[in-house]
Amino acid sequence: MPLREDPAFRCDPRCQRSGRRRGLSVEDDDADGSHEPSLASGGRTLARTTRAYVGLGANLGDAAGTIAAGVHALAALPGVRLRGVSQLYATEPVGVVDQPEFRNAAVALDVPTGPDPDTGALALLIALKGIERAFGRQERERWGPRELDLDLLVFGRHRIHVERPPEARSDDPTRPTDLVVPHRLAGERLFVLAPLADLAPGLVPPGWTETVARARARRAQVEGPGAVRPVARWADGRWDPA
Ligand code: ADP
Ligand code: MG
Repeated sequence: MPLREDPAFRCDPRCQRSGRRRGLSVEDDDADGSHEPSLASGGRTLARTTRAYVGLGANLGDAAGTIAAGVHALAALPGVRLRGVSQLYATEPVGVVDQPEFRNAAVALDVPTGPDPDTGALALLIALKGIERAFGRQERERWGPRELDLDLLVFGRHRIHVERPPEARSDDPTRPTDLVVPHRLAGERLFVLAPLADLAPGLVPPGWTETVARARARRAQVEGPGAVRPVARWADGRWDPA
């Protein structure tokens, strides 16, 4: 699978810090979460990009390997640049607890904003669902075991609530047919907050009243120290066990 990532962003927390020294922070502090227009198509098209955060989870088969391949698949999406990869965490299942332990991570991406944020976020969700299917994800019970789960956690400074077009919906009528960003449960799940805090500790997602780091600390008190454990760092395009 082609790699389009900038080596400066094959990130663990240490290389993020070195990135910051060079002005390459993965946190986005623009007013709207969008980035300066860049020239594309021979200079005729102006493409705006938005900093998005995507959560990855898996608990079937080689979960760590699947998440690594998922990171590369995200980095290879058209118009997308990989800006950071969190640590890999071993996490206890939430919701349906009688299932294998999960592996979770998060990535920072710069993605095309699209003609408007609703359209851009929906296009990204549809791409995420396509990658999930390519990795063999079957429809099973909600919150149950899965080959690969990709959740759109944050899309710049935009609050989004749109219906997915019918052709982009799940066949399962019990599943949500909408897209809500920031992700509805992100602020209440340590397995999301821990990797997101690696990438953007100071971020206050739109609609939240606290930083990601503070939310992580709050949930760590509730869920306890064993709920989420770092097990590897991202280095040279793969997981390097801690
Ligand atoms: P889970 O809640 O366990 O991640 P799924 O991955 O099966 O469950 O997602 C169910 C549905 O949730 C998706 O098909 C999508 O329509 C909807 N959804 C709403 N908001 C989001 C979001 N921010 N990211 C991903 N899916 C979302
Ligand atoms: Mg999901």
